[in-house]
Amino acid sequence: TSFGHFGFDEALMKAIRKSEYTQPTPIQSQSVPIALSGRDAIGIAKTGSGKTAAFIWPMLVHIMDQRELAPGEGPIGLILAPTRELAQQIYTEARRFGKVYNIQVVCAYGGGSKWEQSKALECGAEIVVATPGRMIDMIKMKATNLQRVTTLVLDEADRMFDMGFEPQVRSICDHVRQDRQTLLFSATFKKKVERLARDVLTDPVRVVQ
Ligand code: AMP
Repeated sequence: TSFGHFGFDEALMKAIRKSEYTQPTPIQSQSVPIALSGRDAIGIAKTGSGKTAAFIWPMLVHIMDQRELAPGEGPIGLILAPTRELAQQIYTEARRFGKVYNIQVVCAYGGGSKWEQSKALECGAEIVVATPGRMIDMIKMKATNLQRVTTLVLDEADRMFDMGFEPQVRSICDHVRQDRQTLLFSATFKKKVERLARDVLTDPVRVVQ
């Protein structure tokens, strides 16, 4: 497939061309149409596969639709990642393409200033990228609420579990409305991740890198 098949508007296409990506990666070719359709998906993919853009681009399209349908406060897209480094990489990619539509992105991770992160959230963000523990802190501090989240990404789910974030991930999923879209990415698909997928996804499509 080529990027043209995704049906993105000219503004996003221009940003993609500017990134000098010549064609979609296999995970992008497979997951983007599924994500755009609104279905839940499990993507078995490693870092370097282009998985970040595979969930960011459909998220931007979704936000542009939801902005008008559901005006209000709080993020529309929430992305959970295991580490500060990964959260920052996702944030960079989300900013790069989100700025096409002036979509505000906030990153919240353990080790950073809770005060600064909560202030950033209070200023309004349509996309939040967070590590699970810090997201829970932000919810407790009432820096944000997840009522408007309709698309949720669990990135590197296996690593989040290896780091002991299972309870936090599950609790955050419980804070997000049931009729959301959920995309789960993981390099491996072990029992624990399989169980999470069964509990938090609805009739997911499985995509393998
Ligand atoms: P990821 O697997 O999301 O961490 O992406 C790995 C790297 O591939 C990042 O530096 C991306 O900017 C880059 N990338 C993402 N999509 C493409 C693409 N379609 N063509 C070339 N590079 C890409």
